[in-house]
Amino acid sequence: MSKVTPQSQDFSKWYLDVVKEADMADYSKVKGCMVIKPYGYAIWENIQQELNQRIKEADVKNVYFPLLIPESFLNREKEHVEGFAPECAVVTHGGGKKLTENLVIRPTSETIMYDTFSEWIHSYRDLPLKINQWANVVRWEMRTRPFLRTTEFLWQEGHTAHSDKAGADTEAHRALQMYKDFDREFLALPVLTGVKSDKEKFAGALYTLTTEALARDGKVIQAGTSHNLGTTFAKSFNIKYQDVDGELKEVWQTSWGVSTRLVGTLIVVHGDEKGLRLPPKVAPIQIVIVPIYKTDEERDAVLKAANQIKNDLKRFRVQIDERTGVTPGFKFAEWEIKGVPARIEIGPRDLAKSECVIARRDTGEKVSYEQSELFTAMPKLLDEIQENLYQQALKFQQDNTRSADNYEDFKKILEEKGGFIISGWCGNEKCESKIKDETKATIRVISEEKHSGKCLMCGEKADKKVYFAKAY
Ligand SMILES: [Zn+2]
Repeated sequence: MSKVTPQSQDFSKWYLDVVKEADMADYSKVKGCMVIKPYGYAIWENIQQELNQRIKEADVKNVYFPLLIPESFLNREKEHVEGFAPECAVVTHGGGKKLTENLVIRPTSETIMYDTFSEWIHSYRDLPLKINQWANVVRWEMRTRPFLRTTEFLWQEGHTAHSDKAGADTEAHRALQMYKDFDREFLALPVLTGVKSDKEKFAGALYTLTTEALARDGKVIQAGTSHNLGTTFAKSFNIKYQDVDGELKEVWQTSWGVSTRLVGTLIVVHGDEKGLRLPPKVAPIQIVIVPIYKTDEERDAVLKAANQIKNDLKRFRVQIDERTGVTPGFKFAEWEIKGVPARIEIGPRDLAKSECVIARRDTGEKVSYEQSELFTAMPKLLDEIQENLYQQALKFQQDNTRSADNYEDFKKILEEKGGFIISGWCGNEKCESKIKDETKATIRVISEEKHSGKCLMCGEKADKKVYFAKAY
């Protein structure tokens, strides 16, 4: 019997079951915080490694800034503090004494970094400045879910400073494209990209760009964001440089980030009734070998062959499941829950023919292979699985993107099907807020395409084409 609640029955329950049964995370004694277990952390490490390389290729340097931020730093930027103050954890005591100034545990690092930027940047020669930090942040959340929304989470935050708007625009778009490519190539995630509405943008930003993924329950998840911060923070933190012409100017800035939320995104986009389905590139175990035998003699022969196969495939992350006292069927189910992309089954009958059976996690299909052809067949198969998971997710996203040109249709689609709904919007925040209050749907992305139609809410002329959805 499956330990995982069917997706169709209760998606939230299914999600929590998968996290638990795949052994990814535990709850902690502190509400909203999670313990990331080895299997969950290994996924994050693979994300981190690959993305870190891509960040460095863009000539961004890694740094580390303190966890504690003087409260007065946050107060320097009005919009920013209004956005983050309700979520801040504040340290009031240290060393047994009340502090003269409260310290905030970073919810994000703009303020502490930019106070230092004002000391680092003096001349146009100091620009562009491009840094990144891998760290933990804390945002006090009321309703939490492992990986998707936790009070403390892990992330990377890139921060750059440029001499003009064009420089910041280019960087904000570069980061967005980096995330989109990374999602596509490494995580097999199709994402919708575009600009956020002013209501949904980052507190203090000029504009926010976003990547949005569609979960299998029809809800949307914000997977990564990139902000052009304009000169807002430069003004508050006095970050100025002397230009070639000798004039003193404010810098233009960007910040961009993705978090452990990506692990949750993998689960809700690729998971199926049996559990997790991991794209091979990010999977901690890409191939699991399950030996099948009855007698000790058979066991020795089968394990010998399994080790030979493991050796042939050593360029991949391979594990032999040598556990005794559990049936192969039990092992199959467990590796399926954990989403291992390919499973090799090998028993005495396969040995006699120098064959083995490969079960694909993405399709459930089983195919016999000559043991000698695995070396060349396996790379192709894993690529195929990676691509197939992307294509399946893309098809799901396309099938669940619909248009509505009136509010009645909109509400009907939202309630019955979910997914993305494309509509016209006049650009007025009142219409946006009313839709959110009445339906819980928000504008996920404003399309860059021009639009001529009517606003979903007020019926006035709408020149914006937007994607609405209910979000995580
Ligand atoms: Zn309107």
